[in-house]
Amino acid sequence: MADYDVVVVGAGNAGMTASAAMAKKGLKVLLLERHNIPGGCGTSFCRGRFEFEVALHQLSGMGSPEHPGPLRMMLQELGVIDDLEFVEIPELFRAVMPGTIDVRLETDKAQVIAELQRHFPGEKEGIEKFFDLAFQFATQMLSVFYFKDPDASRDKYPILYEYAFKTCREVLDSFFSDPLLKAVVSVYWGYIGMPPDRLSFAYLAILYFSFIEFKAYHVKGGSQAMSNAIVNKFLSYGGEARFHCGVRKIEVANGEVKGVVTEHGERISAKCVLSNASPVATYLQLIGPDHVPEQVHVEMRGRSLSMSGFTLYIGLDCEPGELGIRDSTSFIMSNTEIGEKVYDQMRKLHVEDDLLVLSCYNIADPDFSPKGTTELNLVTLKFGEPWLRLPPTEYFREKYRSAENMMRNLERVYPGIRDRVEELEVGTPLTHMRYLGHPAGAIYGFAQHMKDSLFFQPGGGSPIQGLHLAGGWSGDPGFQPTLEAGKAAANSILKELGA
Ligand SMILES: Cc1cc2nc3c(=O)[nH]c(=O)nc-3n(C[C@H](O)[C@H](O)[C@H](O)COP(=O)(O)OP(=O)(O)OC[C@H]3O[C@@H](n4cnc5c(N)ncnc54)[C@H](O)[C@@H]3O)c2cc1C
Repeated sequence: MADYDVVVVGAGNAGMTASAAMAKKGLKVLLLERHNIPGGCGTSFCRGRFEFEVALHQLSGMGSPEHPGPLRMMLQELGVIDDLEFVEIPELFRAVMPGTIDVRLETDKAQVIAELQRHFPGEKEGIEKFFDLAFQFATQMLSVFYFKDPDASRDKYPILYEYAFKTCREVLDSFFSDPLLKAVVSVYWGYIGMPPDRLSFAYLAILYFSFIEFKAYHVKGGSQAMSNAIVNKFLSYGGEARFHCGVRKIEVANGEVKGVVTEHGERISAKCVLSNASPVATYLQLIGPDHVPEQVHVEMRGRSLSMSGFTLYIGLDCEPGELGIRDSTSFIMSNTEIGEKVYDQMRKLHVEDDLLVLSCYNIADPDFSPKGTTELNLVTLKFGEPWLRLPPTEYFREKYRSAENMMRNLERVYPGIRDRVEELEVGTPLTHMRYLGHPAGAIYGFAQHMKDSLFFQPGGGSPIQGLHLAGGWSGDPGFQPTLEAGKAAANSILKELGA
């Protein structure tokens, strides 16, 4: 008899929600996490008097209690919603290119259209038509993919069928002529990690629709509070969790999962194993190539890694208003590039004129950091390979060189900010690689090229019996998708085990 019904490898979003959902239904579940805290990307760390949020900028899919979104409903079903406090973020974002444009968009379609029309009066008609199209596209997509209309057809959903495989660039070009407008409207590409030239229009449409329809939220206490709440609920359902307990091996015999071996050498048998680690690590390191069917190798060879992140975690010794910080989320642009040059820049070691995303947590939640202080997260996207090639002796110099460039770009928007820095920590692609165990520190799983976009996700199944995968590598990355992916994986396993 197996020690457990299911062993879950990794306490990232998907690993945690899957564990809680399965334990709630009575399965005997063991959750093993290599780090000493739960959450994966959804964690925090402390420096001085600040507890820094690692990853969460804006939570999508929540909606209000009166108008709940899919994520709120899922957390409700899991039983964790009452243990958490969510704070609505009033704006979509501020997009600023010093000396060129400064635009603030709220979570309101009419305001978004009016504000963009104010800045780009020559493109009035195109702006309105673009957002109408994006909303129609998103609602048609929801009907087909979320509500699973069995009678979906080109006649019934003409906009979905016409635009599903168009890139953002193609759609932007057909509505707008000003490159600055195109860059502002598509600035959300920074949340997916694929420049508009290559990004599926579907992602852009869904992001606008979701943040306007269900608003953007933050969690009181940061994503760590949410991770703790999910794991605590899992434990209250009778689940067992071990931290500082990585999995070294997933045992497979005759094409079937048998259990795992921990990094401490303990052998644990299970009917199923759910891996929240990347498929690359799961198949090549934990299982070993000999036990992996050729079709898995072929599938993985056809994909490429997403980029990682380069992040400045900044604690200020003043309140945001003193420096004129009024927005929760700002995209800081240095140019209007939305094509290959953006991709090339992400492949370079140094941060120069890369797109920056600034989150100020104290705007929506003034208590986020100690009174009289401000917590900021300034992030850009960078591929991990140049950092992997860097000799260790040069690591710190290069890390602070890029950090200095980012700080300089930030000062152009908030002069004097450098003088108010009390704490500063820098996370590079190698930091993400170390803490998450993902190849090259990729934070968005496999790259979301058009051929790998949301319409073609492989899902969490596996040709190895009893093995399941869930997380940002087998579906879409991001908080909402991965939290939901865990629930979906739990449903598959419950079905498989007849529970
Ligand atoms: C800097 C940064 C900024 C981001 N910003 C946003 C944002 O604003 N909005 C958004 O929606 N998304 C954002 N994301 C992406 C989002 O955080 C991730 O897509 C999501 O959290 C991934 O969840 P996951 O379930 O795939 O697990 P992961 O977070 O990838 O966690 C996997 C877990 O598995 C563990 N693990 C791996 N191997 C083993 C092993 N052998 N044994 C035991 N444990 C193991 C790891 O330690 C880790 O805890 C950001 C990510 C980062 C890093």
